[in-house]
Amino acid sequence: MNSFKLTKENAQMLANQYGTPLEVISVRHIEANYRLLQERIPRLKIYYAIKANPATCILQKLKDLGSNFDVASDGEIEKLAGLNISGERMIYANPVKTVRGLKAAQKAGIRRMTFDSKTEVDKIAEYVPNAEVLARVKIDNSDAVVDLNIKFGAERQHIIELLKYAQTKGLKAAGICFHVGSQALSADDYLRAFDVVRNLIDKARQNGIDIKYVDIGGGLPAPALNENADAAEIMAQINKCIEENFADVELWAEPGRYMCASAVNIVTAVIGKQKRSGRDWYYLDDGIYGSFSGKLFDHWDYDIMALKEGEKSVATLAGPSCDSLDIVKSQVLCPQLETGDLLLAVNAGAYSRVSATTFNGFSLPQTVVWKE
Ligand SMILES: *Cc1c(COP(=O)(O)O)cnc(C)c1O
Repeated sequence: MNSFKLTKENAQMLANQYGTPLEVISVRHIEANYRLLQERIPRLKIYYAIKANPATCILQKLKDLGSNFDVASDGEIEKLAGLNISGERMIYANPVKTVRGLKAAQKAGIRRMTFDSKTEVDKIAEYVPNAEVLARVKIDNSDAVVDLNIKFGAERQHIIELLKYAQTKGLKAAGICFHVGSQALSADDYLRAFDVVRNLIDKARQNGIDIKYVDIGGGLPAPALNENADAAEIMAQINKCIEENFADVELWAEPGRYMCASAVNIVTAVIGKQKRSGRDWYYLDDGIYGSFSGKLFDHWDYDIMALKEGEKSVATLAGPSCDSLDIVKSQVLCPQLETGDLLLAVNAGAYSRVSATTFNGFSLPQTVVWKE
């Protein structure tokens, strides 16, 4: 499955119809990514991490496909509840939850949640007394671009004690989870994590704790970006390990980026140009404070191209705000562009529009569902 990419004519048509900047979503690509993961790792129960892109069309499509959802806040829980998605299809996978979030979880009927401390057990026991909890273990993730183990995960030698503590508080100590970090570049971190988890399951059983679920978190790369990370190969290796070593538990995952990154295009237009030190600078109507926020927050290098043909030279692409930090790409090969010319960013569906701001008074990009 290739990444979703609008043709020049279609990008122009949408820009004429809606104006720019635009976030254009292909739900057909969301469906293909979902089905590919199901096919590659058949035993996996999929919880889409909605923080990557909570556009309603994506949630609706995944709801219809039977997906489950990973939520982290009262806002995310209420968004899904508003789409009539039952709490039974959600996991509250933020290891440190707010009281508002816990109350929203109780109201929505969410029973499954993760934790990595005794403090969290006490909170969960107070607000969702019959919860099934999964202890999050800290994992080395040297092979991921975004490290998520700096902030979360208990040391492996504390996991059994934490699960026991959850039991004494009346919770169901039911699982172990981990997160290898975002944009995994190989299966190595998963395989190392599987070793740790296998050991913990056996140790837990010796301590009278029946581990039913293993949640392997997020981290899978976008399926179509084969240059850096081969998602198909990573999935194959994960599947093999699961088949060989984890017949006795249910396997869950929380893919975010994998599901949505390749399904979205950003359409942006040139609003001004300038020559600075001999180089062309193009100012766009979308930037670092807008859809391209992932450059800062997500270490994402946007794949952005002009739709016009012509002889190319090295140019700089900047956003519309007055901040000089607002540079989307400092070196990109570009034909000569004029005000109004369009640029297209592909693979821009994860951690992009969702973390855009209205800094400097610029509106958020409009979201359009592509009619296939
Ligand atoms: C962010 C996050 C995810 C999704 O991560 P991706 O790298 O986008 O797949 C999954 N689980 C948890 C707990 C997260 O914090």
